Amino acid sequence: MNEGGSGGLEIMSHIRTHLLGYPRIGEHRELKKITELHWRGELPLGALEEAGRGLRRLNWAKQRAAGIDLVPCNDFSFYDQMLDMSALLGNLPPRFGNTETSVAADTLFRVARGESGHVHDNDCSCRGGNPASAAEMTKWFDTNYHYLVPEFRADTSFRIGSTKVFDEFAEARALGLNAKPVLIGPVTYLSLGKVRDIDHPDFDRFELLDRALPVYEEILRRLAAQGAEWIQIDEPVLALDLSHAQRDAFLGVYGRLRAAAGPAKLLVTCYFGGLRDNLDLYLSLPVAGLHFDLTRGAEDLEAVLATYPAGKILSLGVVDGRNIWKNHFTASLAVLRRALDVVGPERLWVAPSCSLLHTPVTLENEPNLDAEARDWFAFADEKMGEISALRDILEGTVGTEILEENIASLDRRTKSPRIHQASVRERTAAVTPADSVRHSTFPERQRSQRERLKLPPLPTTTIGSFPQTSEVRAARAKWRKGQLRDADYTAFLREETQRCVAFQDEIGIDMPVHGEFERNDMVEYFGEQLDGFLFTANGWVQSYGTRCVKPPVIFGDVSRPRPMTVEWAAFAQSLTTRPMKGMLTGPVTILQWSFVRDDQPRSTTTRQIALAIRDEVRDLEAAGIAAIQIDEPALREGLPLRARDRTDYLTWAVEAFRLCSSGVRDETQIHTHMCYSEFNDIIQSIADMDADVITIETSRSNMELLDAFADFRYPNEIGPGVYDIHSPRVPSVEEMKSLLEKAAAVLPLGNLWINPDCGLKTRGWPEVKESLSRMVECARLLRAETASTPTA
Ligand code: GLN
Ligand code: ZN
Repeated sequence: MNEGGSGGLEIMSHIRTHLLGYPRIGEHRELKKITELHWRGELPLGALEEAGRGLRRLNWAKQRAAGIDLVPCNDFSFYDQMLDMSALLGNLPPRFGNTETSVAADTLFRVARGESGHVHDNDCSCRGGNPASAAEMTKWFDTNYHYLVPEFRADTSFRIGSTKVFDEFAEARALGLNAKPVLIGPVTYLSLGKVRDIDHPDFDRFELLDRALPVYEEILRRLAAQGAEWIQIDEPVLALDLSHAQRDAFLGVYGRLRAAAGPAKLLVTCYFGGLRDNLDLYLSLPVAGLHFDLTRGAEDLEAVLATYPAGKILSLGVVDGRNIWKNHFTASLAVLRRALDVVGPERLWVAPSCSLLHTPVTLENEPNLDAEARDWFAFADEKMGEISALRDILEGTVGTEILEENIASLDRRTKSPRIHQASVRERTAAVTPADSVRHSTFPERQRSQRERLKLPPLPTTTIGSFPQTSEVRAARAKWRKGQLRDADYTAFLREETQRCVAFQDEIGIDMPVHGEFERNDMVEYFGEQLDGFLFTANGWVQSYGTRCVKPPVIFGDVSRPRPMTVEWAAFAQSLTTRPMKGMLTGPVTILQWSFVRDDQPRSTTTRQIALAIRDEVRDLEAAGIAAIQIDEPALREGLPLRARDRTDYLTWAVEAFRLCSSGVRDETQIHTHMCYSEFNDIIQSIADMDADVITIETSRSNMELLDAFADFRYPNEIGPGVYDIHSPRVPSVEEMKSLLEKAAAVLPLGNLWINPDCGLKTRGWPEVKESLSRMVECARLLRAETASTPTA
């Protein structure tokens, strides 16, 4: 409890602060480093575990020092909290043959990485589907964190299979902490898993609820016996549109869990969105406390307060756990005061909206941020400070300086000339619908493009990148450190590009690319050249396992001071007579993979980026580039969690793509690329983008994904990937040919392209050479066959 209350105010001294979870990677990604050392056999398991304990101790100490009353435990994980939950419930996939009474970290690593230990690479989209059959990995709601999907079978049974949560609670206890163990709730756990049972593919996983509940009850009983005062149970599925099965599952479950927990009190949490139509269900849960994400669910507040059940703790997530911006104290305090009036200090808890797992750890290690920029941000450690400052202000235990400083800081940001550029505002406001429409319809453009490009039927191309070899990475690293002069680095890159173009010419790729050797990452490369972006030194966030990403920060109005890719594209075009395809990243993907400013709608920021890309597209056209690809692999992952919000998103996302691609002449061919595998629900939007050519991932599903395009009668040209670049395996000509024949059965032959699934950056040259040569060979065979049997 906090003992800071001054005399006369003691009735106000009960507001508690807590966290739903804290980042586990360490300030300098220590967790990644030690885990990978262990994977390489250079650190024994015991030492890894000891290092894990050290990290936990440090993280708890930081939370206590920051004034967090109730610290979470079991939020730590060597790989993933969902995988830990599967282990705790004794539900690891049977193919890993686990019979341990308590799983060791090594077993979990095998499940997560497969027997082969495939290491996922930067924007490699294999998402876990490797040959050794690691558990599937997928995105945790709309975050960039990926969890391991629980697997269910008709004969799945549960037992306590891990002691981790009990051990970590005991560990915290021994340090004198009243820790709050965190569990994934049963409905969310079942909802996010998948049935993998050949004999019973239609098995309803909610049938497992009755089998899982006794184990949940036992876990709660044990934690209560260990002395847990509070136990946090995460049910973020409550922020989604729920099915009847899910709603039914919620009724009934929590009464049993509360009874099992006995003296321990349950806090159920929902985050990443408001409750909306699930609010009554949520309020009816017979537990001691409920948490609300008010950064995304502010509209729930009045309804919550109007009927908040007597005696229940109300935890309000007012500090955004999904971004890096300083909290707006005045707004948060207004909300908290309103709640305080209704529930009183004993029942009010102050928290971040969700686990701080999704924010970087601390601003302390950001030497490159100048004082002005530093003042805009709050990472996890600073957010903890905000939580306790808000509590202190509410309780009146601090003077007014903290609030005044927050107000002044936000005011400086609002007025900063670095953030606001009148020219960008004016241009964005002046966009008209006509700017997002090509001059002519697709059939007319197709005619002009065919005349200009003179490509054979079934033209071959690739998605953009060629192998980023260790030499390429090493040269870039040296150049970044100042050990390689600009001129030498450029000469090196020109040589790589030259070799790449020569190779494509030699095997006869119809539309070559330059290879992207100069690019580190498809978003960072553009962010570094655009105004309005900044890059942190240590702003890492866990993406999955030991993989962390350091998203660019979009802090201000976006504009393009100078062309970004024209020199490389023109150079590459000068090396060949074939039409070189220019390569850009689209506005939605740039937005989606960055931390985005919170002071204007995301759609406005996207439009600004789109205008910058539009200028680049036009400059490429002026430089003689006849085909320009604008990648949008993240278009789908930006889809809002609730169906009701999707149309709005898709409207502005598609509009942004059209805005950047519509400023060109008919004979300039616009390509786009998407590499996820679910198209059905957004096919209309994909068509609305009106790209002349779309290249997509389909080979892993044997072209089944094309059904969406066939049923829909996709109007423009399309390149369904004929081989899976996520695997080093070189496909045979016959395999590729049969895939294309499948595609030709459902799509007009005249609209088909031949290309791999995705970029080749993660592959090695020998496989790439072999695979692409075969792909070209396959195109030749098909052309010869179709020439002799003319189609209608
Ligand atoms: N042009 C990019 C590449 O080839 C596209 C990558 C992606 O789709 N993720 O690497
Ligand atoms: Zn791709």
